[in-house]
Amino acid sequence: MSDPQTFTTTVIGTARIGRNRELKRATESYWAGHIDAAALHDVASTIRRDTTADLIAAGFDSIPVNTFSYYDQMLDTAVLLGAVPSRYSGIADELDRYFAAARGNAELTPMEMTKWFDTNYHYLVPEIGADTSFSLHPEKVLAEFAEATAQGATARPVVIGPITFLALAKAVDGGPAPLSRLDELVEVYAELLAALADAGATWVQFDEPVLVTDIADGLPELASSVYQRIGDLSARPKILVATYFGDAGASLGALAGTPIEGIAVDLVRGSAESIAAIPTLTRKHVVAGIVNGRNVWRTDLDAALATLGTLLGSVGSLAVSTSCSTLHVPYALTAEADIDDNLRGWLAFADEKFAEVATLATALNKGREVVADHFAASAAALATRADDPRLNNAAVRERLTAITDSAISRTNANDRAVAQQAKLDLPLLPTTTIGSYPQTGEIRKARADLRLGNIDDAQYVDKMRQEIADVVALQEKIGLDVLVHGEPERNDMVQYFAEQLDGFLSTQNAWVQSYGSRCVRPPILFGDVVRTAPMTVEWISYAQSLTDKPVKGMLTGPVTILAWSFVRDDQPRSASAFQIALAIRDETIDLEKAGIGVIQVDEPALRELLPLRNADKTAYLRWAVDAFRLSTSGVADDTQVHTHLCYSEFGEVIGAIAELDADVTSIEAARSAMEVLHDLNQVGFSNGVGPGVYDIHSPRVPSTDEMTTSLQAALKAVPAQRLWVNPDCGLKTRGTTETVASLTNLVAAAKAARQSLA
Ligand code: GLN
Ligand code: ZN
Repeated sequence: MSDPQTFTTTVIGTARIGRNRELKRATESYWAGHIDAAALHDVASTIRRDTTADLIAAGFDSIPVNTFSYYDQMLDTAVLLGAVPSRYSGIADELDRYFAAARGNAELTPMEMTKWFDTNYHYLVPEIGADTSFSLHPEKVLAEFAEATAQGATARPVVIGPITFLALAKAVDGGPAPLSRLDELVEVYAELLAALADAGATWVQFDEPVLVTDIADGLPELASSVYQRIGDLSARPKILVATYFGDAGASLGALAGTPIEGIAVDLVRGSAESIAAIPTLTRKHVVAGIVNGRNVWRTDLDAALATLGTLLGSVGSLAVSTSCSTLHVPYALTAEADIDDNLRGWLAFADEKFAEVATLATALNKGREVVADHFAASAAALATRADDPRLNNAAVRERLTAITDSAISRTNANDRAVAQQAKLDLPLLPTTTIGSYPQTGEIRKARADLRLGNIDDAQYVDKMRQEIADVVALQEKIGLDVLVHGEPERNDMVQYFAEQLDGFLSTQNAWVQSYGSRCVRPPILFGDVVRTAPMTVEWISYAQSLTDKPVKGMLTGPVTILAWSFVRDDQPRSASAFQIALAIRDETIDLEKAGIGVIQVDEPALRELLPLRNADKTAYLRWAVDAFRLSTSGVADDTQVHTHLCYSEFGEVIGAIAELDADVTSIEAARSAMEVLHDLNQVGFSNGVGPGVYDIHSPRVPSTDEMTTSLQAALKAVPAQRLWVNPDCGLKTRGTTETVASLTNLVAAAKAARQSLA
């Protein structure tokens, strides 16, 4: 490398929750008042310093800092830019103000949270109003830079870039689109650059993942003008603009035309060819994201090295990196005890990915022979993947090739509705719930006791049956029309199924941050998916045996199971989705045989997997809809299929919701029942629909009047024959008292509405 200040080996960002979720435990203790701020800061500093030390030891010569966060990097950026909503400014303590913005408190609502691009990580949505002013508060980034520098690292501060920050913000208080404030905000970034240069930073990284999307118009032009302005500054470190989660498309050329020194590209989802097509990149430092930062699979090192080799003539200098932050993958494969050798050999978590980056950088700069043994070990491990029978189940594959159009469609929805009504005999405006009931301390204790061996399987089943009996009795007492079993036996709506299906690995310690202190442990879908036995039939049948009212069977849909798992990368995701769909289809048929007349297949993640580029959306929605329909079209006309969707903002998927062709769709309608129903009418949806009439995300008990008003509004948009009455999501996070009160009011509201119709 010609420039001694240019690095060769790095990562875009790292996880921060701690190898053993130390930060989760410490923040939750702090919130509960068990430890003070100093103790929390200690835990945080230890996590950061350990991460830096690990990267130094792995041979990284540029180490990202400020990718640590007490809660979320978008909130950190709002703090950095002085743009935290003013409603929190009365809170004197800095840390408490920060957590109030993240989580709310007794008086203040938190900032809104939504999914970070197409990941399952949630960020806090900045609010930009007419009176939002920007000012620089660089204390955090400067302190973390100083901390890592003191450890001997060549540290590279990382900050969310101005375009991404504003493109993901929402306008409030009647203000204009946040991006209209870009020029003003860029001046604050200019001040930040001066401060970082003063502190001795040689490089700074601005994350601009929004440049791989079509979220806003004119993004390449914005990239060009913003980074021209910033690049023209004299007092600044070198600038690396990081694009990730896809191909930067026209923005890549736009960035290459500005004075910035470096661009990070995602070579996992983007293409190497687009780099060769831009001559100005021969003057740039290109950080090649060749090791996938989002999945758990081992990299094919030879293929990766070959790709890197093709770039050498097209760039000024080249560094090896992950495609994005390793925030999205677990810390270390070594923390998993129960994985067979073959499967273990195909996997790479963050630690293993760091080693891959280092190996590739060494091969590139010093020759492959220096690390030939790494390449050999990697190739040998991957070779076992080709002929492992678990990845190639002939029976499932044959079944899928034999699928015809008739397997993914049911008869006319109106005929179905007539057949179902003849069988179920439901009142007008039927009442139901979304599936789960409060997961009480006793339920969680029973699961822990089973895991620890304090109780045996039979005792556990007894406890769950007791819980189901209680929930059924409660629903009868409240007067609901379609009952549920309450899902007490489910730790998680995806993991529960993954544990029972062949082709999935459930991990012990592979935690990934979902938001704040919340972590999830996504199952690993590594092989062909096969259902070896019924998964839910006994529980649901037991519930049905206790009541004359219909009990709704409860399943998770194929798209959601896929979205909340790490998915094999050796075949299209759609192929895995269809395999899961077959398993769910078999389960619906078994439920039907067991006498269950109503079956719900949840798809809350339908929106989440929507591709970031407009051009890719139609193809995704096609297979997502088909997978759902494959899983629900195996039952008779008089079996009523429900689905449930949440996380509002349906926008671009509203047409697909109609195409799912469920008999009844319950849907989050936090903003207003009317709006959602109107959107559904627009796309010609004419099946049953239950817009959520109360928000389960809050402990507040909605009054009968309030819900009656929502129902009256809903009745203006859909005829009574199609309208259902239900909460907007499952009740598992709620307490029993508030749940009983709310559902009692919900039933009263339905009765009042029925009366006014009579
Ligand atoms: N049936 C699930 C429940 O009630 C649905 C959860 C969800 O939509 N995320 O908990
Ligand atoms: Zn939901």
